[in-house]
Amino acid sequence: MWENGLTRREVLTGAGVTVALPLAGLAADSDVAKVPFPKDGAEALLRLKEGNARFADSMTRHAHESANWRKQLVSTQKPFATILGCSDSRVPVELIFDQGFGDLFVVRVAGNVIAPDVVGSLGYAIEHLETPLVLVVGHRGCGAVTAAVQAMDGKLDPLPGVNALVELITPGLPKPKPELSLEQRIDSAVEANVQWSMMQLAKLPGAKKVLESGQVTLAGAVYDLATGRVRFL
Ligand SMILES: [Zn+2]
Repeated sequence: MWENGLTRREVLTGAGVTVALPLAGLAADSDVAKVPFPKDGAEALLRLKEGNARFADSMTRHAHESANWRKQLVSTQKPFATILGCSDSRVPVELIFDQGFGDLFVVRVAGNVIAPDVVGSLGYAIEHLETPLVLVVGHRGCGAVTAAVQAMDGKLDPLPGVNALVELITPGLPKPKPELSLEQRIDSAVEANVQWSMMQLAKLPGAKKVLESGQVTLAGAVYDLATGRVRFL
């Protein structure tokens, strides 16, 4: 059938069965390549929101993955967003936003904390790659944040590595509210931790200027492991 000059779509639909999935990915790569760079942070944010909606609705297009696309990236990159996320294996940033190679500059560290080397990587993306958006993404059920909540309760076994992480998270946590369940407290701590990271980023030298001029938009979000949806704060 291939020799008769039929397209892949014709072959796949020839038996009366439409198989759109592989074609969607192939078509999307050339279509998406034509999408212009976002004009500002709001447009970049919208692109992430649309990507997460596709992911959560199982409509991912897996664009920007082909060998041809990757060849275009060998000598240059122009990611449209910088993302600080958690190292948690259940929160792979490109996948939850349905983005591909070259789209996102990602820093992942347990608890999406602000530490000196994190700042260096984020600074590179903002100053050198000029991404118009910086997004901090926390997630429900974060182990690092849970450890910080447990430490506040005096219920964390001391482990030097974890303690160092906890020390970075604790200053941003809300005061314990006894009326809340542990799950509610962790949820609230996850959101507070995203805002804490955002606050620290906003206070970095040079940040005020790029944020106030609108050159960079700083945003926060929380990913829900159960639904696959990102809630933007
Ligand atoms: Zn986490």
